[in-house]
Amino acid sequence: MSDWFNKTAFEIREAVAQGDVSAREVTTSFLDRIEAVDGAVGAYTQLWNDDALAQADAVDAKVKAGEALGALAGVPISLKELICTTSGETTCSSRILNGFQSPYNATVTKKLLAADAIVLGKVNMDEFAMGSSTENSAIQKTANPWKLSCVPGGSSGGSAASVASATSALSFGSDTGGSIRQPAAFCGCVGLKPTYGRVSRYGLVAFASSLDQIGPLSKDVRDAALALNVITGKDPLDATSADLPAEDFTQALTGDVKGLKIGLPKEYFVDALSSEVRTMVEASIEVLKAQGAEFVEISLPHTDYAVAVYYIVAPAEASANLARFDGVRYGFRHPDAKNVAELYVKTKTEGYGKEVQRRIMLGTYVLSSGYYDAYYLKAQKVRTLIKQDFDEAFKQCDVILTPTAPAPAFTMGEKSSDPLEMYLNDIFTISANLAGIPGISLPCGLSESGLPVGLQLLGKAFDEATLLRTAHCYEANAGISLGTPPIA
Ligand code: GLN
Repeated sequence: MSDWFNKTAFEIREAVAQGDVSAREVTTSFLDRIEAVDGAVGAYTQLWNDDALAQADAVDAKVKAGEALGALAGVPISLKELICTTSGETTCSSRILNGFQSPYNATVTKKLLAADAIVLGKVNMDEFAMGSSTENSAIQKTANPWKLSCVPGGSSGGSAASVASATSALSFGSDTGGSIRQPAAFCGCVGLKPTYGRVSRYGLVAFASSLDQIGPLSKDVRDAALALNVITGKDPLDATSADLPAEDFTQALTGDVKGLKIGLPKEYFVDALSSEVRTMVEASIEVLKAQGAEFVEISLPHTDYAVAVYYIVAPAEASANLARFDGVRYGFRHPDAKNVAELYVKTKTEGYGKEVQRRIMLGTYVLSSGYYDAYYLKAQKVRTLIKQDFDEAFKQCDVILTPTAPAPAFTMGEKSSDPLEMYLNDIFTISANLAGIPGISLPCGLSESGLPVGLQLLGKAFDEATLLRTAHCYEANAGISLGTPPIA
């Protein structure tokens, strides 16, 4: 059997551990699959065939010797371009980091390697994770595997496209305002943004430090739980990582949601929502009701301000975080600058794309004296109100159900000339980052034009267990199995 690429991470791990297949055979199946379809999809920016096969052989040697295997033994994975790896480059899909080799592995990279996962390579993203379509990559275009003329979403578009096109069993991305959940929705896979603090960000190139989280994109909910088990935990190298007792999230998938209270925020079922998405999300409510969940209408009254608040807070933090890329210490350095000031200007002007420059300018503006109080400080205050909305809502319910994005994937180029249009795509995902709570997107159907639609569930801080249990119960009973799209 050579279609191991169609199996879940869980199935692969089982088969490898039982000796039904070698990790080399699984890895080869994925490498062949990449060769066959990634030319059309464009998910991978770097491919490490030899390293991957060597890792696979090491796993096979462990199996032979009867040694204990890691939780992802033999599972081929991909990593977003902003997760530090000592192998290859870490470019954030930016020209400014062209050629940059990280001197260390991110904590997540280390944990995945220690779990015996096979790293196939790195995948594309919007430059520095700023975008919703992966069109802001300085490296290449990535297509939506369901319809190649459409975007895969972003910024973790390469991650979602690789899972959807079965060129990786799992991928790891980052989510600052929706960058795991929205591409997962667009490509028909599962995307989990853990609670802020659940996963170490050491070695994740920072975009907006008070919002960024690393999380998995997977074929199903069980794989998301399995992946979370591996990457979670306190890290002395990331002061924001939480010190919590270890949990096995796969144990949470009991299939039981009887009596669970699910909130439907009225502010999310608005006119901007496409009628197809509305219909599918409403159908998902019936699926969970039939399993014994109870639905309550809730209100998140400050929802209207979330996009505005995010596009002040995130650029402000980005303008500080990106100051370090000055042509001196990392990656690209402009070759003909006469002095240091000119070096900075020329390196940044040529090194950054338009969207990154726009964010740095916005961020610098809202932090500058005279504007700080009017914009940044005010946005922080409204952020607190948004968080309080969730605190209130979670007094009435255990989980919140919403659409992930207002509409299915859009056509390449459709929104790239209008930043505001692009920003509005994040309307349903941003609040979770502002509040620090976990969220998951999972497929709830295919649109008339054959594009996946995503359902979003939001949970209480550090209650990924309930979130995953609800998602898994929906998945098990909805009868929606999108499978792998034909790529042509
Ligand atoms: N699309 C949002 C932005 O452009 C979110 C990106 C993200 O989550 N990294 O900022």
